[in-house]
Amino acid sequence: MLLRSRRRRRLLLASSAFAAGTLLPRIPAAEQRIVMNDASRLSPTPVFTHWVAKPEPEDQFIANLRRELKAAASRSRPVVVGAARHSMGGQSLPRNGTAITFDINRCEPDRASRTFRVHAGTRWYQVIDALDRIGQSPAVMQSNSDFGVAATFSVNAHGWPVRYGPFGSTVRALRIMLADGTILPCSRTENAELFSLAMGGYGLLGIVVDLEVDMVPNMLLRPRFERMDATAFAARFVGAVRSDPSVKMMYGRMNVTRADVFTEALLVTYRVEPVPAEGLPPVTRRGALTDVSRNVYRAQIGSETLKRARWMAESMAVPKAGSGIATRNSLIDEPVSNLENRHVQRTDILHEYFLPPERFGEFLRACQDIIPKARAEFLNVTLRYVARDDLSVLSFATTDRIAAVMSFSQDMTPEGEADMLQTTEALIERVAAIGGSYYLPYRLHARSDQFERIYPSAAHFAARKRHYDPGLLFRNALWDNYLA
Ligand SMILES: Cc1cc2nc3c(=O)[nH]c(=O)nc-3n(C[C@H](O)[C@H](O)[C@H](O)COP(=O)(O)OP(=O)(O)OC[C@H]3O[C@@H](n4cnc5c(N)ncnc54)[C@H](O)[C@@H]3O)c2cc1C
Repeated sequence: MLLRSRRRRRLLLASSAFAAGTLLPRIPAAEQRIVMNDASRLSPTPVFTHWVAKPEPEDQFIANLRRELKAAASRSRPVVVGAARHSMGGQSLPRNGTAITFDINRCEPDRASRTFRVHAGTRWYQVIDALDRIGQSPAVMQSNSDFGVAATFSVNAHGWPVRYGPFGSTVRALRIMLADGTILPCSRTENAELFSLAMGGYGLLGIVVDLEVDMVPNMLLRPRFERMDATAFAARFVGAVRSDPSVKMMYGRMNVTRADVFTEALLVTYRVEPVPAEGLPPVTRRGALTDVSRNVYRAQIGSETLKRARWMAESMAVPKAGSGIATRNSLIDEPVSNLENRHVQRTDILHEYFLPPERFGEFLRACQDIIPKARAEFLNVTLRYVARDDLSVLSFATTDRIAAVMSFSQDMTPEGEADMLQTTEALIERVAAIGGSYYLPYRLHARSDQFERIYPSAAHFAARKRHYDPGLLFRNALWDNYLA
């Protein structure tokens, strides 16, 4: 009896010491592998090395980049360049390979050609800073300004100024380094095949070194808000793009409560205001899409009442509150941190679907069938217009589309992950059935057959990647999961 209680006491002591972490092996820092992650926090990936390129003379930068590629190739290690690593499924991470980040800000506008030449690693807030000083603005970029410019090309992102296609449509030319260190200029007329493959090619063709991109005049814009039944939204949205040239930027929102998800919609259109005598105000890095404060946004998790309150605020109170006048640059210079998740056991996961406008009603019904049953908390949807893209090989908009960007809060448990996988798979199935597509930078939850159905040129893309990169130096999780 005494023996048994002593053993029990020892076991208890041992387990409490374990719980406190004192029995965990302590690996000396020098022996620890580098583990990198992306914005999902669900992609921990061991890497062999992480090279952060700092500003240096151009020939030195190129020589160092070639040195990294050669070293990785000699050991058959994959190479991946990432920028903000806000993709969510390991697209920006090389397993046991060489991760590269360009911490370099260089943006040179040229008024005569209405373009800016920009280093691949430059972030959008740095571009906006440079262009704002001369009254210009990037033609297309994402809704947040933390991302890298070459990364934007590599996912072929889109934004909410109208009437544009994805970012690639505004890139005039770029230089790309292939696996053997050769640098090739690419555009619609020079190495055009490589240009189309690399646009939305997730870094699998080579490393973009710099780009020449369209800019447009900065302007002052005033929002107009229209609340409507969700079934009326698509026609109204497309009508505003096609027949109202005064609309320069535009987005939509819908209600997200489980009981009546996607029954109401809000259309926000921005039109040009006269420039005041003192000129345009300088850009403020605040953004416009976060009228609802971060705290209210976050409080929606687990509270249908607060989801409803937020919708009332956004669709009724905000429109009444003030003019909302802002410059184009201030509207697009929105930091991701505005809606940042600080909960250690939850993570924000994005989905995005591109719908033919005439099938939008069926998309609403698919979401009403699937989303309320999900364990994940559905926090937000933003609707945008994306014009047809015939240029990129992995195009997600083979016709004009309504883009639905959806944000979920997922708990970081096996159950949370399984639920997200099933929800995504079910949504993709319904979207595919109505001729829509899904966006590739998020979680890799689509089945292979879904990926191949929605991206029918994937096999051709993979074959041409093998032509340009025969040693398969550029590999990431997107390649490993669907293309290898
Ligand atoms: C909060 C949030 C908001 C978003 N809003 C939008 C939006 O409005 N519109 C939209 O379209 N998307 C949007 N996205 C998706 C976003 O555009 C992608 O996740 C994009 O990848 C983010 O840029 P990044 O700098 O984080 O890229 P990373 O994740 O670092 O990289 C993305 C891809 O580009 C490749 N790459 C990076 N640099 C190079 C280079 N120099 N050469 C070759 N390949 C390279 C990487 O290898 C990787 O495959 C959003 C994402 C988040 C998290």
